[in-house]
Amino acid sequence: MKGSVLYGPRDVRFEERDFPKIIKPTDAIIKISATCVCGSDLWPYRGINPITQPSPMGHEYCGIVEEVGSAVTSVRRGQFVIGSFFASDNTCPTCQIGYQSSCQHRELMGGAQAPFLRVPHADGTLVATPAVPSDSQIPSLLTLSDVMGTGWFAADAADVKPGKTVMVVGDGAVGLLGVLSAKQMGARRIIAMSRHESRSKLAREFGATDIVTERGDEGVARIKELTKGIGADSVLECVGTQESIMQAIHSTRPGGYVGYVGVPHGVELNGQELFFAHVHLHGGPAPVRHYLPDLIGLVLKGKINPGKVFDLTLPLDQVAEGYRAMDERRAIKTLLRP
Ligand SMILES: [Zn+2]
Ligand SMILES: [Zn+2]
Repeated sequence: MKGSVLYGPRDVRFEERDFPKIIKPTDAIIKISATCVCGSDLWPYRGINPITQPSPMGHEYCGIVEEVGSAVTSVRRGQFVIGSFFASDNTCPTCQIGYQSSCQHRELMGGAQAPFLRVPHADGTLVATPAVPSDSQIPSLLTLSDVMGTGWFAADAADVKPGKTVMVVGDGAVGLLGVLSAKQMGARRIIAMSRHESRSKLAREFGATDIVTERGDEGVARIKELTKGIGADSVLECVGTQESIMQAIHSTRPGGYVGYVGVPHGVELNGQELFFAHVHLHGGPAPVRHYLPDLIGLVLKGKINPGKVFDLTLPLDQVAEGYRAMDERRAIKTLLRP
């Protein structure tokens, strides 16, 4: 079979790879229905994360179970399943409290930009839908593998509740789905930071009430103006740079919450500044597995349509163009069909 392999900065190739095999009795092999390029794939693609050896890419996936190992009991051949970017057993003490992305036996997924994928801890990782979904539901179900679950976690970590004022830093797929999550959780006001027309339009469609184009100190000043001078109750940080994290912290009211899900790159926090900011900070890799059953329900009932973040769909063999389009910000997110 052929899948994507990253060789170096801006050098992603579609090439022959080994067909995945069951290695442990707890594994499953799935036939991918759809996969995609993640904003976090752009860090190594741009050479910001060094690439030491050719790496099979992709960690967002859904598809049909092809084969299961002898110890797998909860999923079976023919079911449509969704898994998260961390495989988890869903039984250890950390999983039990809802932090499957810190599972004691977690395994980071890779190689999903391919026609078939091996999923470790299949019983813990994969969640099956009640029936094989229609083709039109697949993009939304695919987002639950990472971006939608991550946006949801950002909102949950930022304590979004009915009536609250929420601000979202980042207008990538995760930020946009953070807006959707905040709306679904009942936020009264949702301020999205965006400078791109297509992205701010989608943010409004997902529930943003205000769009702020200023960044840095000017952005913070604008948020204060909109919030009686104190800042937002809940701030979702969906970028991971020094500027975006400081903007999030400075835009949060005293006693408010920052939910941060952008993978930090070169971020350093000053102790004194943190001390006097008076905010709650909670974030990290989203425990997507924890939210999967509820989010599958919301998608299948038609309550949310997160698949709208895919503004480019390509056959898998054009994966290189999928990366280029996102790198050049011509696309918010690329869906790939094997
Ligand atoms: Zn991802
Ligand atoms: Zn676990």
